[in-house]
Amino acid sequence: MFNYKLNRNMLGDDYVTAVVEGGGIPLIIPSNIRVENIPELISKIDGLLLSGGDDVNPLIYGEEPHPNLGDVDPLRDVLEIHLVKTAIEKKKPILGICRGLQVLNIALGGTVIQDIFSQKEKVIGHRQKGPRYYLSHQVYIEKNTLLADVIGKEELLVNSFHHQCIGVLGDNLLINCKSSDGIIEGIESKCGNILAVQWHPENLWRYTDENIKLFKWLVDKSK
Ligand code: MN
Repeated sequence: MFNYKLNRNMLGDDYVTAVVEGGGIPLIIPSNIRVENIPELISKIDGLLLSGGDDVNPLIYGEEPHPNLGDVDPLRDVLEIHLVKTAIEKKKPILGICRGLQVLNIALGGTVIQDIFSQKEKVIGHRQKGPRYYLSHQVYIEKNTLLADVIGKEELLVNSFHHQCIGVLGDNLLINCKSSDGIIEGIESKCGNILAVQWHPENLWRYTDENIKLFKWLVDKSK
């Protein structure tokens, strides 16, 4: 993300070290590259990781802003939607995390529920209080999905830092896990080239056995 106040392009180091630990060579894409250069950029990388961050501008998926919409980053929205479309065109694998899952869904024609706490009933606490590595709620993984194959379990405790979730599912995507309140916590493509989760595995891989497997999947799929 580009931090206008600090005049810096920034990415949490947990993402970088997770890719390294997964066997990959991380390259950080700045938010302020030119959109016309994206095809050349994508042709030079082997896989794409979409990191967490601000809410996507709802006008992009055809909705007016809800009063509880969080901060938006218009430059990054445009960049990442182009990155997703181009990566799919060029058949590069994609791992989406939190905002990254939402960007993927929107790029494929889906929508996001802008504020689950005011727009959905009986939701559990998806905005955990406490450290990033703390496991706060369960997700239930669908059998015979790519996620089930990668994680190797049907139930997984995860962290949770979101107030939005997937609404209408994008084209050629399927749901691979949900929390107990029915919130979609993971999606994947039918072709097996896209995997995305609503939690933050980059904050968990040092403390759990399962979460590094998501980054290893991206690196292996990129070979
Ligand atoms: Mn959650």
